[in-house]
Amino acid sequence: MGLISKGAKCSVTSCDNDGVRSLTASKVEGTGVDIPHGLKKAILCKEHYKEWKKATKEDRDTEKARFSRF
Ligand SMILES: [Zn+2]
Repeated sequence: MGLISKGAKCSVTSCDNDGVRSLTASKVEGTGVDIPHGLKKAILCKEHYKEWKKATKEDRDTEKARFSRF
């Protein structure tokens, strides 16, 4: 799980960098990270993963209660 096959490229439209993270596409959609619709898995490069993390940070703060049980 979470492994990226060798040579996988970033799913973001107009980005051709090597992917470093694979995420469920629905988690990426709506965050401002521009992936094509209809994907199951989104592969993000280092830069776009950073962007995605930034974009989801606010959401995470409101979900802190859920994470605090870890
Ligand atoms: Zn990218």
